[in-house]
Amino acid sequence: MLKIGSHVSISGGLLGAAKEAHTYGANTFMVYTGAPQNTKRRPMEQLKVKEGQQFMKTHELSDIVVHAPYIINLASHKEDTYRLAKEFLALELERTSLIGSSYLVLHPGSFTDQTYDYGINRIALALNEVLTDGPTPLVCLETMAGKGSEIGRSFKELKDILDRVELSHKLGICFDTCHTHDSGYDIIHHFDEVLQEFDTLIGLDKLKVFHINGSLNTRGAKKDRHANLGANENHPKGQDFIGKEALYQIVHHPVADNKPIILETPWLDAKTNFYKEEIAFLRGE
Ligand code: FE
Ligand code: FE
Ligand code: ZN
Repeated sequence: MLKIGSHVSISGGLLGAAKEAHTYGANTFMVYTGAPQNTKRRPMEQLKVKEGQQFMKTHELSDIVVHAPYIINLASHKEDTYRLAKEFLALELERTSLIGSSYLVLHPGSFTDQTYDYGINRIALALNEVLTDGPTPLVCLETMAGKGSEIGRSFKELKDILDRVELSHKLGICFDTCHTHDSGYDIIHHFDEVLQEFDTLIGLDKLKVFHINGSLNTRGAKKDRHANLGANENHPKGQDFIGKEALYQIVHHPVADNKPIILETPWLDAKTNFYKEEIAFLRGE
């Protein structure tokens, strides 16, 4: 079964998020528990979780995803940033669990002016401290575009983290189409080979979430700028270099069956997005 949705706002709590997702014809969705750029968070009691879950039940929404804020950098060499990142990740895991989600998507981190090896070890150290066994949500490391000193630009880099984490069964992977394309994988013509490489290095059983986005750049550009699905050069947000056909194929590949597929495509303006049309397209409607 196809589980498709988009990023939705949490400003009206989980109930508002679920209602917004429903207007797009979605059967899953992704939220940040507060602003993506900061760590200010409202108390959970204000997030209308029970009402949201009730609405989800009656409107066939499930398998929702939480995305951790970008400012968590588990590779940071600054002690205060590092401590904050670990503390905040632990709290996010709690919130993810309280919301009733099994997946917390996380950008692995950036090593800034240190080395790759430093960054990898720093991330693993932090995850070994924060992860706990038991029925907690999975932390899903996201495949990254490779801008700056971002870690996670290849499956090998993600494997390097997994290999160093004791409770690696508490880790999953979120596959972002814009990011993998930007980092150099040919998901347009060789998606099966890309999956093969993923399977060899990490194992396809680790693949838990998809982010489906077009890209404003050509393959290997290492930019991370999302495009609307199949947008042409006249589109107000710019041209998509991945294209509708490839994204449609990925969504309908058996590997994506029953997994949350989340759109993070650009909004036209503060009030208008293409989520409804894009979801209908991906469903083949
Ligand atoms: Fe992300
Ligand atoms: Fe993403
Ligand atoms: Zn991105």
